[in-house]
Amino acid sequence: MIEKKKTADTIPQVKLNSGNLMPMYGLGVSQADEATADAVMIAIENGYRMIDTAKAYGNEKEVGEGIRRSGINRKEIFLTTKLSVPDMTAGRAREAFEQSLERLKMDYVNLYLLHWPVVEQIESSWKQLEDFYRQGLIRNIGVSNFQIHHLKDMVPYMTITPAVNQIECHPLLVQAELRDFCEELGIINEAWSPLGRANIFDEPVLKSIAQHHDRTVAQVVLRWHIEHGTIVIPKSTKRERIIENSQIFDFSLTQEEVNKIDAMDKHQRFGSDPDNFHFDV
Ligand code: NAP
Repeated sequence: MIEKKKTADTIPQVKLNSGNLMPMYGLGVSQADEATADAVMIAIENGYRMIDTAKAYGNEKEVGEGIRRSGINRKEIFLTTKLSVPDMTAGRAREAFEQSLERLKMDYVNLYLLHWPVVEQIESSWKQLEDFYRQGLIRNIGVSNFQIHHLKDMVPYMTITPAVNQIECHPLLVQAELRDFCEELGIINEAWSPLGRANIFDEPVLKSIAQHHDRTVAQVVLRWHIEHGTIVIPKSTKRERIIENSQIFDFSLTQEEVNKIDAMDKHQRFGSDPDNFHFDV
């Protein structure tokens, strides 16, 4: 019980350009499948207050169930979901958003993202999200997988700057240039696949830093994101990992250690390329 309170209290929050606060740490649920509701409940019991889902993950219903089963007050949770590629392509933002709320059984979400930059539809979709925001249906609006050129193209017409850009980011894909560009525009960076989809645990640099701090590689990598001011949403459905990953707010990395991890960059993606993607869901 004490441990629960401690984790929730120690997760830092970042102020978005909307003026709202967002926890810098939360649970990702892509491919959590039938374990979703339990994972969400375990996470909340252990101090998590932010959950990242999407229509495309097919588990909004289970995320809503997990939040309700945890018994926590909805107001304490920061919930993100996303407009899917097919819905964006078809210009169905309003219907898609309403259906997400129905599946979640919620009357608002804290953050709604354009999931991928469907180039021909970015302007109309963004204007739709701006309308939802003004109507108070969504607390914050943002984008995902946007490159510098996508963001530059939005500047002439957007009246609201995205609060967040959620991008693939881990030690083998550092994204320093994109991160700096977003910071200049007042957009907070959020890392998806922050653990490189479990492909980075044998990296010697990470193992040596982890050993030095008596931490796991996962904890060191998540802490590295936090040192950069980046929001993280590691996915796990396993209780012990859900707890392990969250225990990163009682140690820090030196600038030298951060630099060593930055130097691991290989521009290596484990997910799709935002300039060349195809999704049916
Ligand atoms: P990730 O969080 O980097 O890695 C998840 C993998 O690492 C899973 O196989 C998990 O397995 C394992 N894992 C987690 N913690 C571990 C630990 N402490 N030790 C060992 N293994 C561990 O990758 P991700 O799921 O791709 O990304 C995280 C979240 O980002 C997603 O769930 C989703 O919410 C979001 N995302 C967004 C986009 C987008 O386009 N916006 C794309 C992809 C993902 P177990 O579950 O078995 O523990």
